Amino acid sequence: MPVKKKAKSAKQRASKKPKFAKPVKKKRAVAAGTDPKRVAAILAKLDEAYPDAGCELKHESAFELLISTILSAQCTDVRVNQVTQELYKKYKKPEDFAYASSAELEKEIRPTGFFRNKTKSIMGASKAIVEKFGGQVPRTMEEILTLPGVARKTANVVLGTAYGIASGVVVDTHVIRLSNRLDLTRNEDPKKIEQDLMAIIPQDKWIIFSHQLIWHGRRACAARKPKCAECNLEHLCYSKDKTH
Ligand code: SF4
Repeated sequence: MPVKKKAKSAKQRASKKPKFAKPVKKKRAVAAGTDPKRVAAILAKLDEAYPDAGCELKHESAFELLISTILSAQCTDVRVNQVTQELYKKYKKPEDFAYASSAELEKEIRPTGFFRNKTKSIMGASKAIVEKFGGQVPRTMEEILTLPGVARKTANVVLGTAYGIASGVVVDTHVIRLSNRLDLTRNEDPKKIEQDLMAIIPQDKWIIFSHQLIWHGRRACAARKPKCAECNLEHLCYSKDKTH
């Protein structure tokens, strides 16, 4: 006669309950393409293609570059240069922008888009430069970030291009796209991308590297239909966006 199995006690049943799995800590994605030899090869190819890469915003001072960079948000450098050609004839120093008529300034910078916010940023930053920094654009990341409308991208452009101070890497739309295509990062957030790039690019290359990636994005590695056949990084690139 088959022996009936003894019913398990509540205690036994409880001990058999599946334990919840420990939450897995999300590891920060490390791009496979960050091998130092590969990074060095990419830098060498960028140097070869764009030895004279630089900022395409026309300016004659750190202050003008700051204003042009604020204007360049969501706007082409060509359009910004057209607008500033006249603008800088009228507004020559920070005081001129700081105490300008906002209605007039809005009208003058309107072609660059987002003109109300940009007017607030330009006037606010100019006022802070006059009132807190003795009329000079500050030279440290910490101080420049206190200016209204200035975030890391603008700060890096001004510190790097106007002062030659390598405080970080400029991460704009081209740098976001290209650093992902070249597998130098697996992040989409500009702050994280900058951290990733700063970790793998030697500091003395931060300034030129930003310009070179931006130039490459404009001239070859466009968002749509990158010109891969003409790209000198083609043998190093395994992006799924590559065209054949
Ligand atoms: S091979 Fe194509 S996708 Fe890769 S970097 Fe060059 S242009 Fe961009």
